Amino acid sequence: MSDCLFCKICEGNIPATITYRDGDVVAFEDIGPKAPFHELVIPVRHIASLNEAKPEDAALLGKLMIVASKLAVDAGFGASGFRVVMNAGPDAGQTVAHVHLHALAGRSLGWPPG
Ligand code: AMP
Ligand code: ZN
Repeated sequence: MSDCLFCKICEGNIPATITYRDGDVVAFEDIGPKAPFHELVIPVRHIASLNEAKPEDAALLGKLMIVASKLAVDAGFGASGFRVVMNAGPDAGQTVAHVHLHALAGRSLGWPPG
């Protein structure tokens, strides 16, 4: 998608601090971190929102979780804990229309979320 911010980050057309990349998934630091550790894990292939995901996207979406976990554990948060969050739609606060999994850690995270 030529007008998608996160597609542009995948393509290297908008700068980001990339922390992981393979053929399917890219991870990068959130520009407005809500915790000491806050990274976004996204599919390279544009999917606008979780509510547009198809059954055939299941492995790709699962991979986002595996990559998020590895990044949080490698950053030292395996024992203290971390949270993964995916916002879908306006009531959930989704502001970028390209599926992204938030990985947050480094402080005590309140529950329930806002
Ligand atoms: P959401 O509100 O769930 O759609 O999350 C979007 C996230 O993208 C927010 O946490 C933003 O801080 C983050 N974000 C927006 N623009 C950028 C950018 N250029 N680089 C990195 N993160 C961004
Ligand atoms: Zn996109």
